[in-house]
Amino acid sequence: MNLHEYQSKALFIEYGINVPRGTAVESSVEAFKAAEEMSADIWVVKAQAHTGGRGKAGGVKLAHSLDEVCKYTDEMLGMTLVTYQTGPEGLPVNKVYIEEASEIERELYLSILVDRDNGRISFVASAEGGMSIEELAAEKPEAIKKVEIDPAVGLTGFQARELSFALDFPKEVLGKAVQLFMGCYKAMVELDMNMLEINPLVLTKDQNLVALDAKMSFDDNALFRHPEINELNDNSQKDKREVAASEHDLSYVGLDGDIGCMINGAGLAMATMDMIKYCGGEPANFLDIGGGASPERVGKAFELVLADDNVKAMLVNVYAGINRCDWIAEGLVKIIPTVDLKIPLIVRLSGTNVEEGLKIIKDSGLPIILADTLKDAAEKAVEAAKK
Ligand code: GDP
Ligand code: MG
Repeated sequence: MNLHEYQSKALFIEYGINVPRGTAVESSVEAFKAAEEMSADIWVVKAQAHTGGRGKAGGVKLAHSLDEVCKYTDEMLGMTLVTYQTGPEGLPVNKVYIEEASEIERELYLSILVDRDNGRISFVASAEGGMSIEELAAEKPEAIKKVEIDPAVGLTGFQARELSFALDFPKEVLGKAVQLFMGCYKAMVELDMNMLEINPLVLTKDQNLVALDAKMSFDDNALFRHPEINELNDNSQKDKREVAASEHDLSYVGLDGDIGCMINGAGLAMATMDMIKYCGGEPANFLDIGGGASPERVGKAFELVLADDNVKAMLVNVYAGINRCDWIAEGLVKIIPTVDLKIPLIVRLSGTNVEEGLKIIKDSGLPIILADTLKDAAEKAVEAAKK
């Protein structure tokens, strides 16, 4: 789960990390009040959406008067922000963050992430902030410093100083930098984050370190330990299909192809997607109905896949171990008459209660194409989607 910048910055304050003074607003009236109370000369108006690259897309603007604060707020509220990270659909902007502007001397990059390469938390820092880290990694990898943290020891003072030197901080700033790194590490571990990014971290003209931007991403599987974080969830920033799926505890990932998939088990789902591709097709989604799927759950999953307009054929592939083929069949036979099915449906069942399951399907008289093996099923689905 990701947070908005304004939410992340509120958490930064709790961990002793400097952020500019700011207020999240939902109208230009509120923006005017917030900006006036800050008694600044320049304000930053920032669209709140789960994406970076807002600056280049018109989602971050410097305002030199209260009038400009209101004008930019009105422009941003309700807009669909399209950045290089969002894809052409963009993301809705329902809140705007008003901040007092900082006087920047240098922009730096800092992130902390669960590093798949070494199974540890790593700090990634660069003196060349501002630009996208992807570009920097491609063009100037030597400008990026990586420090790996031993989980038994945590971030040491030595490592924090190593990072400070890599960021080329003047001596006076060293103490503040160490404090910032320590605060970030503590937040990362205590709150079970996958990633924390400050881009840019800035050194201000008066030699303060300020997190000018903030991005936090949390481990969904640990959210039960942090109900206060879970409450900050904003479904408007997520793929609609994925939101609907999570409401029914289904693992769903939308993809670009045209064959809808309904499968039990992530491993079988991956194998099925591979087989579809091998047979010359493209999956429209990854959907794992999980073990012990009741007929109701099967029905929900079916509706979810069908709700995707790109789906030209649907493939149900179940190898029942804990699951039962008769439950899958029952779920399908119940839901199909209610959904006005216009696309071919291919079903392959195997494992527990397969005879009962196949009998339910055959007796239903519904136009379901049955398949024997994974390959047979994928071939039939690819062929059906092409018609
Ligand atoms: P992003 O584009 O979505 O990553 O949004 P950021 O919060 O990183 O802002 C983009 C850029 O706006 C920063 O890299 C800064 O150059 C600029 N910016 C943001 N806040 C301030 C500020 O307070 N003062 C100044 N001068 N520039 C700012
Ligand atoms: Mg940024």
